[in-house]
Amino acid sequence: MMGTPMTGTPGIVITGASGRMGQMLVQAVTQSDACHLVAALEREGHAWVGQDIGTAMGGAALGVTVTDDPVAAFAKAQAVIDFTAPAATVAFAGLAAQARAVHVIGTTGLSDDDIAAIDRAAHHAVIVRAGNMSLGVNLLVQLTKKVAAALDEDFDIEVIEAHHRHKVDAPSGTALMLGEAAATGRGVELADVRDSGRDGITGARKRGDIGFTAIRGGDIVGEHDVMFAADGERITLRHVATDRRVFARGALKAAIWGQDRAPGHYDMLDVLGL
Ligand code: NAP
Repeated sequence: MMGTPMTGTPGIVITGASGRMGQMLVQAVTQSDACHLVAALEREGHAWVGQDIGTAMGGAALGVTVTDDPVAAFAKAQAVIDFTAPAATVAFAGLAAQARAVHVIGTTGLSDDDIAAIDRAAHHAVIVRAGNMSLGVNLLVQLTKKVAAALDEDFDIEVIEAHHRHKVDAPSGTALMLGEAAATGRGVELADVRDSGRDGITGARKRGDIGFTAIRGGDIVGEHDVMFAADGERITLRHVATDRRVFARGALKAAIWGQDRAPGHYDMLDVLGL
């Protein structure tokens, strides 16, 4: 029965349960035979706290009440799936590590300091973090690395992404993953060649730079192009996500994959064996 703990499968907490991804994750976990939902977390004062998560989402009751207490929620879980915001994710990383629960992080827009804090938590527990949890994008990362390694700097690399109007960070976590992959393929550091936010008289494009462009509008789930543009020809690698379910599916896979692994900071390439 949905929401009823099943012995033998990992118990999952969904943080930010009212969010776009949070609700998708609650649905994915409750429909899966490979795990079960033990808690749905929202921040203190949120209107959903104290309500059944299924009812709050406008469906049938799932027997799990939305809580604002991460410590109690994580204590009964084998994995925490977290698509929220950087400050929340850093706090959850410490708490999940204390509870020895696998922490699957989909949150994007993390700073270097945030990532350092997550690295520290990963000394004690398994953390799987990826700016994009879909199989297709992770394949695209590997393809980007290969193409960038095969082409020289006569090919200008541009990463173009499009997302819905509510997205708060840019470039997207996925665009940055693709930029990192292109930089790795070229044997350079992304920080040394990153060119984002062109506006006004920016001067001519610098050879070897990796450019980023962000489009925001409507309900676009997520689209990413990696363009390799030379004189006379260009190659474009493209991924289009049409349904958030692909991210939820990847996150569940990561939560299950992480069970009984050695502590560490992993990504989806580890989970998918790519
Ligand atoms: P969203 O609809 O805004 O949902 C975010 C949720 O997190 C909301 O329920 C929000 O609660 C909650 N939250 C924010 N700060 C919190 C805090 N300090 N404590 C507790 N809860 C907090 O956003 P979304 O579209 O689901 O995206 C969430 C994140 O996932 C973003 O960083 C996005 O880029 C990322 N994402 C990643 C992937 C991937 O595959 N890795 C795919 C899609 C999205 P309030 O409503 O109260 O603020």
